[in-house]
Amino acid sequence: MKYFDFNATTPLSSVAEEVWIKTNREYWQNPSSPYGPSARAKNLLESLRERFAAILSCQSNNIVFNSGATEGNNAVIDYFAKNSLPHSRILISAIEHPSVLKAAENTFLEKADFIPVSASGVVEIAKLRSLIKNEKYSLVSVMAANNETGAIQPWKEILELCNANHISYHCDASQWMGKLRSKELGKCDFVTACGHKFGGPKGVGFLKISDHYANFRSLQGGGQESGHRGGTENLPAIAAMLSALEERLLNIETTAKEQESWKNEFLNIIMNRLPGIKIIANDSDRLWNTVSLILPQHDNTRWVILLDKLGFLISTGSACASGKEGPSHVLAAMKYSLDEMRRVIRISGGSDTSRKTWHELGEAFSQVWKDLNTSLSGSSKTRIISI
Ligand code: PLP
Repeated sequence: MKYFDFNATTPLSSVAEEVWIKTNREYWQNPSSPYGPSARAKNLLESLRERFAAILSCQSNNIVFNSGATEGNNAVIDYFAKNSLPHSRILISAIEHPSVLKAAENTFLEKADFIPVSASGVVEIAKLRSLIKNEKYSLVSVMAANNETGAIQPWKEILELCNANHISYHCDASQWMGKLRSKELGKCDFVTACGHKFGGPKGVGFLKISDHYANFRSLQGGGQESGHRGGTENLPAIAAMLSALEERLLNIETTAKEQESWKNEFLNIIMNRLPGIKIIANDSDRLWNTVSLILPQHDNTRWVILLDKLGFLISTGSACASGKEGPSHVLAAMKYSLDEMRRVIRISGGSDTSRKTWHELGEAFSQVWKDLNTSLSGSSKTRIISI
């Protein structure tokens, strides 16, 4: 099977798997217990925290390990719901992941405002500026890169704007981490991400909180993670997540360059053979692994099924969105029509997807296009005969 849904999840990298097994075997004790082996586990945990902090260029006490981005995103919104002045509002982009959007809608109700995006899927800074000028906000939440379109968001500019206006800034970096360097990200007040988007295990992630939020509390429990998040730390998963991330970052520039050019070769193949295909967010900077397409004809679900039969695993959008009713809120925010949304397919490659596999994907698309059009003309013939 050829996998092109790395934005949904990635397989565990072999380095991460080895580290997971070793840590689980040798450091299985509870890091909070009072005896020698637990002290070793605690030391390991703290050294992992330091290595994580180095990647984000922050202090180790700013890193809180948790179960992933959904937990982190919910926790940030919840913290502001509990700790903001009664009249204060929050601002989130219209293209946030549901773990931000739904949490904000459910807790802040009418006190959550939305920042629109351009037709290229990028947050409109001018609109954000005017919203901030006219209203008091305690938090702005804009992701680093969008999971559906790959569109990179102007988070550095947003951070500056928030700093200048004394507003806290949360950046969901789930799709950014492991694909691009992240030293600057550590300057955001809150950063959330999860391990399984870059070759780490599922069910583990981290939250970066800045020093101003010493009173930050998410899960209540045994006071782990300096009281920020209760629950026994999943040390093997944390160690595996870090090894996967460090490995990804080793050759990230070369990987990005190669993958981008192979992805473009794939696009050239299909643009030549499928007239009318459109690239979503084509005018914006996008993640090197991601491209979302509007296909010229036929429902995306038919494409997904036929590509699957040819051995290619591809999604119609975000993993969480694909099982639900209704169109993608991201594409709706970009003002695509319902008819266009029904023809959207998201391709997201991995850091080790080969050039050959990208080319094979191009051939598979051409084959499905031919098959769908043949079956269409075949079925219309059948209809004519039966009449
Ligand atoms: N945020 C973004 C941008 C994502 O793409 C995802 C996963 O698809 C999440 C948050 C949620 O991550 P998890 O399911 O690991 O909690």
